[in-house]
Amino acid sequence: MLQKLSILVIEDEKSICDFITKTLNAQNYKTTSAHTGKDGLAILTSALPDLVLLDLGLPDMDGLDIIQQTRRWSSLPIIVISARTQEREKVAALDAGADDYITKPFGTDELLARIRTAIRHSNKIMTDSMNNNRPYSAKGLTVDFDKRLVTVDGNEIHLTRVEYKIVSMLAKNSGKVITYSSLIDQVWGPYADDNNRILRVNMANIRRKLEKNPGEPVYIFTELGIGYRMIEDENIE
Ligand code: CA
Repeated sequence: MLQKLSILVIEDEKSICDFITKTLNAQNYKTTSAHTGKDGLAILTSALPDLVLLDLGLPDMDGLDIIQQTRRWSSLPIIVISARTQEREKVAALDAGADDYITKPFGTDELLARIRTAIRHSNKIMTDSMNNNRPYSAKGLTVDFDKRLVTVDGNEIHLTRVEYKIVSMLAKNSGKVITYSSLIDQVWGPYADDNNRILRVNMANIRRKLEKNPGEPVYIFTELGIGYRMIEDENIE
């Protein structure tokens, strides 16, 4: 029998916590919950869940501290639950190592999709480290990492070095949001200016090359104030 995936929900608002655990239990996930950061950390270290859903605003501690403490010893997927107005907190959480975020109020479908993506991604990191550099493909866009080749509907797209670096990083993390500053770090190095303008300019050029209608992108989406998210690879199981 397949073992159920276990999800820890750290959320002090009881109604939200109940909604999440009921939803996940109905989908055959095993859930545990904590209403404080202290309890959450205790369960996290003792039960080692497969994924954590973490509210950033907890009564006893900042969710950001939980991410930082957890990242010292574990790479398990962490999805942050945040309010619509907490743009800066979301970015800080992602930069501290959270895998994704979901904004309150959210629906069942969105929650489940985020969880599936985060779990697939953590599995993919393991298979990739076994030297599996499988090409990315979605909706006619392909990125072949070995050949450094990008195509749309079979036609080669000529990207500059920087544009390719941006596209390949988003493709390797497809389905997940990547913050502006982590993209800048990866592409220009950790000592680069945290200047989003050059990134925006490159993204505009990338979209002109990839998208049929750059104003309504289907491959790379902007998450305003946060970063970019590439449509998920169709071949990920
Ligand atoms: Ca809260």
